[in-house]
Amino acid sequence: MVKKLKCDACGREVETTFLGKIKGTYVGKGKNRKIYCSMCQKKLNK
Ligand SMILES: [Zn+2]
Repeated sequence: MVKKLKCDACGREVETTFLGKIKGTYVGKGKNRKIYCSMCQKKLNK
């Protein structure tokens, strides 16, 4: 079963690769961990 992940910045669904890696990034740890999609990740890196 595939868990659907949503970007915490824009709310869009974060895609995963066939290896199960997300097309985006995690920020933080545990309960405070946030997920950002690849597009929002680019914004973070600017
Ligand atoms: Zn996003």
